[in-house]
Amino acid sequence: MKVLVTGGAGFLGSHLCDLLLAKGYEVLCVDNLITGSERNLEHINSDRFSYLKHDVTKPLYVDEKIDFIFHLASPASPIDYLELPIQTLKVGALGTHNMLGLAKEKKARFLLASTSEVYGDPLVNPQPEEYWGNVNPIGPRGVYDEAKRYAEAITMAYHRYHGIDTRIVRIFNTYGPRMRLNDGRVVPNFIGQALRGENLTVYGDGSQTRSFCYVSDEIEGIYRLMMSDYTLPVNIGNPEEHTILEFAKIILEITGSSSNIVFKDLPVDDPKQRKPDITKARKLLKWEPLVSIERGLKETIKYFKIILENK
Ligand code: NAD
Ligand code: UDP
Repeated sequence: MKVLVTGGAGFLGSHLCDLLLAKGYEVLCVDNLITGSERNLEHINSDRFSYLKHDVTKPLYVDEKIDFIFHLASPASPIDYLELPIQTLKVGALGTHNMLGLAKEKKARFLLASTSEVYGDPLVNPQPEEYWGNVNPIGPRGVYDEAKRYAEAITMAYHRYHGIDTRIVRIFNTYGPRMRLNDGRVVPNFIGQALRGENLTVYGDGSQTRSFCYVSDEIEGIYRLMMSDYTLPVNIGNPEEHTILEFAKIILEITGSSSNIVFKDLPVDDPKQRKPDITKARKLLKWEPLVSIERGLKETIKYFKIILENK
């Protein structure tokens, strides 16, 4: 079976390629490296793997058969999508349209990597899939949130109108090795700061919450959803919720760092709370996260230490 992974040179995409290769699939990774890196693929040594540098906002024609398309291409960190607003909107809209067109042509099953950001700054906690969200379309984060909401809408339209076999995963904050140290997300920021002995920068008063899922759990959940027969969105994330201030203290404890915590301005429209309701994933996919925050952070810290030592 042949699988196409868009965004395969990114953080999640590269781990997904690893899982698919381990399961015996042929994998074609498509990426334009706008936020990803070939370094994330360097360890792969398999004749079942190929890589194509391509921007999926442009049409893609593939000769071979394709059985599954995992569409992960999109800037994902707030810093990245604030710097790349048009590219973010285009990959969510045109990129998703092109990959659905390819799925139609190849009669392939299609999975969209959506996000907890479709819930915006949620007014219900935890967030079940039925919640429609609270998104500011014209705020700085709107480029990402609305691109993903459009991507969900066009995925459901291709499913209903063209009968394409589709899946939508709403990914909640995921962390682990191969995140970029400077991607601005809270996990690399805090770990990098702690390891360098710099102050940990908590935005706002740190009372906003997030729920962090380790990458191996996330990828397993995404794979199980693709292999299920469920066509409506499913949340995949870890429901263990922490305030950002608590999280900074956890990082200090696990790294053994003597860094201080300082408070900076809260970014515009920063969601106040985020925690997935994973009842559906538990029931439909028999999935739940297995890796504790301590174990996941230890693995991630080990990775960032190596990156910093080799800088
Ligand atoms: P990432 O930035 O590491 O990976 C995204 C990849 O997509 C990069 O390799 C980038 O070069 C590629 N890409 C972007 N635009 C492209 C284009 N036009 N054509 C081809 N390739 C393109 O980010 P990630 O954390 O691995 O996120 C992967 C997906 O998961 C994204 O769709 C993101 O929205 C979603 N997601 C991630 C998280 C998370 O916590 N990591 C949370 C919610 C949703
Ligand atoms: N954050 C922080 N300090 C940092 C980076 C992020 O306090 O150095 C906060 C950010 O304001 C948000 C949370 O951590 O409330 C998670 O941010 P991230 O950028 O990882 O992703 P988000 O969940 O906002 O998409």
